[in-house]
Formats: sequence, C-alpha cells, structure tokens
Amino acid sequence: MQDVYIVDVELLHVTRTKRFIKELCIYNVPTMQLQNYLVLPSARWCSLKPDIQSLNSYITANIHKIEYNHGQIDQESAIEFLINTTKGLSLILAKGHDKCQFIATLTGKSVFNLETFGCPKVSDLPATNDCSCLTHPPNFLHCCQIKCLRFGRWFYPVLEQLVNKTYHTNWIYLAKYMVRPKYLDDYLKDAKNNGKKQVL
Ligand SMILES: [Zn+2]
Repeated sequence: MQDVYIVDVELLHVTRTKRFIKELCIYNVPTMQLQNYLVLPSARWCSLKPDIQSLNSYITANIHKIEYNHGQIDQESAIEFLINTTKGLSLILAKGHDKCQFIATLTGKSVFNLETFGCPKVSDLPATNDCSCLTHPPNFLHCCQIKCLRFGRWFYPVLEQLVNKTYHTNWIYLAKYMVRPKYLDDYLKDAKNNGKKQVL
C-alpha cells in the first residue's frame, strides 16, 4: 500500500501571521509508525513584540501547554524530517483547513483534509490508551501524538475502503478537495482575478 501519513502540528507565533512549529507528529497510517518532535523556537523570546509574547503565553497556558523555549530539535531539522518522510508518491492528511494549508506550504505538496472524510473532533474519538509524548500527560487532547493516534485509528478502515477496487477513481475524485500550498493558492487566485480583469 502507498504510504499515507497523518501529520499534526501545534504552533506558536513569531508575528500575527508568521507561525512556527512547537510540536510535530508524522504518523504512517498503514504501518502505524510515528515520529514525534518538540521543536525549538525560530526567534528569541526577547525579539518578539509584547502583543505576540502575550498571544504565545495565552496559547501555551490554554491550548498546548508547551513552553516557548522547550524543544529537542530546531525548526529546519523538523521541516526536513517532514519533507523527507512524506516525499515522493506518499499522501498527506491533516485535520482542518488551516493546518492542511500550513503543512502543504511547508512540504510543497497538497494535503487532504480529514474532515473531507467526515473525521470527528479528537474529543469525540475513543481514548486509545496510547502514550502521549514525553512532554504531555496521558490522553492530553492537544498532544500531536495523541491526535495522530486517534485520527489514524479512525482513518484506517476508511483508507482500506479507498484502496479497494475503485482506488484510482476514488483518489482522483477526491483530489478536488485537496488543500494546496498557500503560495500556489495565492498564485491561482491572482491568475483567476487577472483573467476576470481582462474580460472586463
Ligand atoms: Zn505531545
């Protein structure tokens, strides 16, 4: 079976619009292998504007609980692991449009949104009793590892159905739902708008 990955990230901000990875999980659905990384920041805390510091403190305290400076590897290595693992013909899935676009832009590959397949919220999926990462407590719902394990368990039977006799037809049919890298999306929007202007 083709490699199919579920990728999840937790993020913090450098500016309002520029974000970086704090936690990254790459889960191979058919083989059930996973890689999980806590990632060092790409900018020093003292270089951030006060409103961005406040935003990051809020996200750490209320969402993923990962301290700004906590991490094992740097951003470049994390992105390299992601690109190398998912390169070639493998398919990538993530949950939610924003995460799909963030991951698509990092990898340069379009990403399937799990929500296209009807994937429920992580809190509505059964507890797996699988280990969280070393930073998060068991079954912590903002841990990328827990999310990937729960999404992966839910998605496996869906994937099995997709790879039956009508495999090619199904993936081609679903391709229109893929989320493109942001630069490609912007480029296509521009091209479309320019086309409209010329018509007028
Ligand atoms: Zn975690």
